[in-house]
Amino acid sequence: MLGIHLYNTLTRKKEEFKPINEGFVGIYCCGPTVYDYAHIGNMRTFIFEDILRRVFLYNGYKVKHVMNITDVGHLVSDADEGEDKLMKALRREGKKPTVKAMMELAERYTNAFFDHSKKLNMMKPDVIPKATEHVQDMVDLTKRIEENGYTYKTSVGLIYNTAKFKNYTKLGRLKLKAQRAGARAKVDEERRNPSDFALWITNQPKHVMQWDSPWGRGFPGWHIECSAMSMKYLGEQFDIHCGGIDHIAVHHTNEIAQSEGATGKKWVNCWLHGEFLVLKKDKMSKSKGTFVKTSDIVERGFDPLAYRYLCLTAHYRSKLVFSWENMEKAQQSYNSLKNRVSLARDEKGKSNEGLRKRFEKEFLDGINNDMNMPRALAVLWGALKSELSGPEKIELVERFDSVLGLNLLKEEKLPKGAAELIEKREDARKRQDWDKADKLREKLKEIGVVVEDTPKGTKWKKTG
Ligand code: AMP
Ligand code: ZN
Repeated sequence: MLGIHLYNTLTRKKEEFKPINEGFVGIYCCGPTVYDYAHIGNMRTFIFEDILRRVFLYNGYKVKHVMNITDVGHLVSDADEGEDKLMKALRREGKKPTVKAMMELAERYTNAFFDHSKKLNMMKPDVIPKATEHVQDMVDLTKRIEENGYTYKTSVGLIYNTAKFKNYTKLGRLKLKAQRAGARAKVDEERRNPSDFALWITNQPKHVMQWDSPWGRGFPGWHIECSAMSMKYLGEQFDIHCGGIDHIAVHHTNEIAQSEGATGKKWVNCWLHGEFLVLKKDKMSKSKGTFVKTSDIVERGFDPLAYRYLCLTAHYRSKLVFSWENMEKAQQSYNSLKNRVSLARDEKGKSNEGLRKRFEKEFLDGINNDMNMPRALAVLWGALKSELSGPEKIELVERFDSVLGLNLLKEEKLPKGAAELIEKREDARKRQDWDKADKLREKLKEIGVVVEDTPKGTKWKKTG
């Protein structure tokens, strides 16, 4: 059997995955910063991580999936300047800057995030630690980093001296000299290197979330949160760390510097990064206001799982262009896929063990080849269109859908023969044979199915 192969950002190579503990994989994913709704670009990254987990489950692994909630410390700029994104959100919403209001805001957006995740059929991570509930762990880890000589103090707080950490540029293949010339964020004068960053932030008296620490009253930096919470739940060395591609150069680079600076040993074996969902010209961004939420998709009459389908049509390391037109196409394909599945339910046919096994192997080869989901989808389509018997097709759909997560078998059952008529009608419509299409619509009505043609494809429902 072909093992799982994944593209590791650390080595820039596709590698066969080797777990630290036989049959077990520990996965940490940087979770949402809960100052606003997550946009569908964020959700693309979380869907890719959900698929990753499902691929491991499909391969018989036991998985521990940890995803944090950032509810403090993520500043509006990577340069540790400006305010906390959550403080800014309080102002945006006209709320008083109190602990209570802050917690209410974080909870509201956390709940919205899980509501959207559920709509997209994502499995809930096994552990969902909140930053504000792990400040002591962050303080303890920071103390270790300090003891090892990686820090200095400025008026901003306790700063990590990146020049002291030998492998600082490794993950991002960074050229710090070029950055020093000014590409990276503006630096305050006390900072020794432009890439240095805050572990603990002090002197922000207006910030409502503050804790005591050896470096004064303040709050943790965003990067230390992920180091502390991942190690708490997965140990000082674990298998996989994921996030969006934007996290390579700063956030994940800093996480490695902190974690390995504290323990003195290799931290994470494999780093996976998902490419961005983009608009035709711009990137999807909360701060620019060019963002679409999962609930917007639903409000426009789409099935959120059609968005999941859209994500599966592109490899996670390729850019995916979002447009409402692409969304309509994805909805149509998703509808036809489900219709094919309904059709298979009524099919008899002769079973063909050899052919079934071939599809299973092709599917596994696809998902184990760095999660080639477009290939996996193509195998599913191929199986549904093949000569396999109905029950064999349904069996494959059930297995494959445990990875795809498209709820392909959840749909209510159509009356006998209906799926076939819908399929024929779609063919007729493609040929622009409207007479035939109308006749088939009448036939469907007789057996209790109403079909409706919408720009998002043909929809159907049972009458009674
Ligand atoms: P945030 O809540 O801003 O910390 O982002 C949550 C996740 O979404 C991170 O892993 C980001 O890297 C990722 N992300 C941000 N923008 C996009 C985008 N346009 N497409 C895909 N992933 C994104
Ligand atoms: Zn993180």
